[in-house]
Amino acid sequence: MSGYKFHVIAYLLAACVLTYALNEYRMIALSPGSLILSLLLGGIYSLLPDIDMPSSVMRRMVERGALALVLFLIIAYVFFTVMLLIYAAIAVTFLLLILWYLKHRGFFHTLLAGLLLSAPLALFDYSYALYAFLGYSAHLFVDGKIFSLF
Ligand SMILES: [Zn+2]
Repeated sequence: MSGYKFHVIAYLLAACVLTYALNEYRMIALSPGSLILSLLLGGIYSLLPDIDMPSSVMRRMVERGALALVLFLIIAYVFFTVMLLIYAAIAVTFLLLILWYLKHRGFFHTLLAGLLLSAPLALFDYSYALYAFLGYSAHLFVDGKIFSLF
């Protein structure tokens, strides 16, 4: 439906509401550092669902990053001869392959994907996971997929 800018704007509006509510009702104590990181993570997660669309900003960034990582891992293997580096390069290459066969607005445009991708961030800080899920949900809302559970 819309470009990445609209997704970011929708997320920022939602983040204003969430931050206000958290601060007003003191649900989670947010330090300035964790708030800044949470807001940035939420911004990234507001673009993450479109990883299944070849022309999206997120897809291009992930593809370039993954390609650079594979090259780095292969070169690092030549210098350090640690087999784990080659296994990691193969794993990242397979992830790239899977990425190229994703259906647009498939699994990545569901609340379950948002939950699965956001929840691990709670291991570091609850607010990271909260803002990441907010960003993901804001994207689904804008795309009209907010009620897609699976
Ligand atoms: Zn989308």
